[in-house]
Amino acid sequence: MTIQTVERSTPASWLTELPPLGMDAKSIAADFRHYFSHTLGRDRHTKYTYYMYEALVLTLRDRLWERWKNTRYAYEADGGVRRAYYLSLEFLMGRALGNAMLNLGVSEPVNKALYDMGLTLEELAECENDAGLGNGGLGRLAACFMDSCATLRLPVIGYGLRYAYGMFRQRIENGYQVEEPDHWLRSGTLWDLERPEYTQRIKFGGRTEGFMKANGDMGWRWLDTHDVLAVPYDFPIPGYQNGTVNTLRLWSSAATDEFDLEDFNAGSYTDAVGAKNLAENITMVLYPNDATESGKELRLRQQYFLASASLQDVIRQWVRVHGEDFSQFAAKNCFQLNDTHPTIAVAELMRLLMDEHDLGWDAAWSITSKVMAYTNHTLLPEALERWPVRLFRQLLPRLLDIIYEINARFLAEVASHWPGDIDRQGRMSLIEEGYEQQVRMAYLAIVGSISVNGVAALHSELLQQGLFRDFYELWPEKFNNKTNGVTQRRWMASCNPGMSALITEAIGPGWITKLDELRKLAPHADDPKFRARWREIKQDNKVRLASLIEADCGVVFNPKAMFDVQVKRMHEYKRQLLNLLHVIHLYDRIKRGDTANWTPRCVLIGGKAAPGYYMAKQIIKLTNNIAKVINNDPEVGDKLKLAFLPNYRVTAMEIICPGTDLSEQISTAGKEASGTGNMKFMMNGAVTIGTLDGANIEIREEVGDENFFLFGLTARQVEERRRDYNPVAIINADADIARIMHLLESGHFNQFEKGIFDPILHSLTSPHDPWLTIADLRSFIEAQQQASLAYQDQEKWARMSILNTAFSGKFSTDRTMQEYNAEIWKLQALPEMPMA
Ligand SMILES: *Cc1c(COP(=O)(O)O)cnc(C)c1O
Repeated sequence: MTIQTVERSTPASWLTELPPLGMDAKSIAADFRHYFSHTLGRDRHTKYTYYMYEALVLTLRDRLWERWKNTRYAYEADGGVRRAYYLSLEFLMGRALGNAMLNLGVSEPVNKALYDMGLTLEELAECENDAGLGNGGLGRLAACFMDSCATLRLPVIGYGLRYAYGMFRQRIENGYQVEEPDHWLRSGTLWDLERPEYTQRIKFGGRTEGFMKANGDMGWRWLDTHDVLAVPYDFPIPGYQNGTVNTLRLWSSAATDEFDLEDFNAGSYTDAVGAKNLAENITMVLYPNDATESGKELRLRQQYFLASASLQDVIRQWVRVHGEDFSQFAAKNCFQLNDTHPTIAVAELMRLLMDEHDLGWDAAWSITSKVMAYTNHTLLPEALERWPVRLFRQLLPRLLDIIYEINARFLAEVASHWPGDIDRQGRMSLIEEGYEQQVRMAYLAIVGSISVNGVAALHSELLQQGLFRDFYELWPEKFNNKTNGVTQRRWMASCNPGMSALITEAIGPGWITKLDELRKLAPHADDPKFRARWREIKQDNKVRLASLIEADCGVVFNPKAMFDVQVKRMHEYKRQLLNLLHVIHLYDRIKRGDTANWTPRCVLIGGKAAPGYYMAKQIIKLTNNIAKVINNDPEVGDKLKLAFLPNYRVTAMEIICPGTDLSEQISTAGKEASGTGNMKFMMNGAVTIGTLDGANIEIREEVGDENFFLFGLTARQVEERRRDYNPVAIINADADIARIMHLLESGHFNQFEKGIFDPILHSLTSPHDPWLTIADLRSFIEAQQQASLAYQDQEKWARMSILNTAFSGKFSTDRTMQEYNAEIWKLQALPEMPMA
């Protein structure tokens, strides 16, 4: 879309300031009919629910947009309030409809209006595609942050990319994962608003050239670039019934109208047009890698595209109000970098301030190093981003110059802090030497930021003592912890209405915005009547989950059995294998007739594997093969079931976590930075079986040892054990484990697919297995047995379940955001909006 850019005077207020829209069933029904018949042009022959879904979205959207405008006006007051910007390559939003209804406070009138029209919300909601613009935890965290910031009325703007294809859809064929493209925008989305007037121009390639400025200083030009346009699309982010609607601004790439004249004149018309396509491709697809970096050029393009577009957008707004005076810029702006993915922003802000706005190095650095803040999300070395210097020089030459200069000045500081310590200078350099020089993006982030945080207490501690130790010694004051959370609006109120109603009946509705109030539930755990109702609701949720599993996997789960669930990305460190070894152990016990006092179990595993991650894909295949054997064995019957749920995503989790009894959080200690799935399960009354890893530690602290099934080595013990790890000796010394391994080795689960699991067996039995799966197996089996026994006492289990919910208050992103704000962003919350 191109628009005329001639500016006219401000439109009259009769055009822009309208009377408020009705929030009652009657007004909603009237608008619904208007949109269905007039705007969408449908009639009595229309059979597709989809158009009714669209009519409802348009109805709700108007109500979001009027609050959105008021929120913008409030942020603009007094020359603009201090703001924070959350830069993230991923926002895993899921569906927006239920959330919009809840946060607008129109669930009841909408349901009534739909009922009167003979429609149900459920069938309409099913029409919406998940906005799957993220891989897993990191992207979902960004989405939960947005919800909490709007609810807390914090002026925080999300910046991300509007991928045309989100996270791939996963199908299972012959037990193997098959990836299908997720063209979620095929029929467009009504939730966002295109803002072509705020389009930005992004440079790539070309060369740099020095010149003398009028005042005698040296200046730099970035010339002969291949430019791409960044077009913003705004998604409204409503706070919980508070009249506030914040903005998530996602950039979409578009070609400029210029052709490469040289190609064009050489008669290479198609090459010139082809180059346009390359430009348009930048935001085509989300990289489906979770916690590993693939080092692809397009990925670096995406990162720079996001950073540059967002910074230019902020500076554009700054200049509109303040002109070229940047003296207060750092006082009014703050950028939170979600992992290293957007950290090129450090160099880009330097470039924009110096090359486009004429600041000197010191002034530009003084601003940049005060406004950037960096969140680290992983300790896995394979996840630490490094970009080849060669690629940088070719794609972003001016940025490389700036990174070299930052590094030179930084290394001088290191040298003066530790005179003569050459080793340390090499270790801390932003440029890694070696066969190919690489830029260390995490170090660039640390050097350029005012704050560096991990995402759970253990993780932040390990960062300081391990990965970033040198930096911690230099700047201890930069380092801090911000334990993750999830939003209880989506993960309780919206996805578990039965439980939410019971909680509100017991303690009032305050928990929806102050999750700590859930503590008031604790005394109710001793009330048999309350427990009975709690169990009834859990049972209903299990029935709902069982029908999803039957529909998607063809496996029947008996809702009387314990529902034992592990859903998350497939990754060796998360140890889905450990879970499978336990399932084989239960199967083996059944086959041996060791079933006295048996607790029936239904085990659910779900998650996507990165398309290039061979081992993770083999683990999916193994899960499906084991499931086939177990589920078809009449001797096993209802004692044990195993299912692999295809296409795990936000919308699936909204059904899964309310229906779970036992939450599997079994990563190798020291490897899971925080986890957030663990929090969603806890809030919905699942009991955790887990290691002392990530936020599990804090979950156990909150709920108490007696309401948590702990097993396994600690992070410190893991590091010690590595030195003399001998899994074969453990297997030989433990008859149960030996039988599990024998079943696997004998091909019991791959009778007609000889050898396909050899790589898995090899890694389990290797003394170099980084995940120490066999080391934790005995302890895991024992904790699982404790869980089984506990589940037999249904009253006791209900008590544990209620207490898990009751003590989950800490894990709201409302708390997380308040900590970011108090210690890093320092924003003023907006006063209550007139329109709630
Ligand atoms: C919460 C969530 C995650 C993160 O799960 P972890 O168990 O913390 O890895 C990943 N994907 C989806 C769809 C989620 O909702």
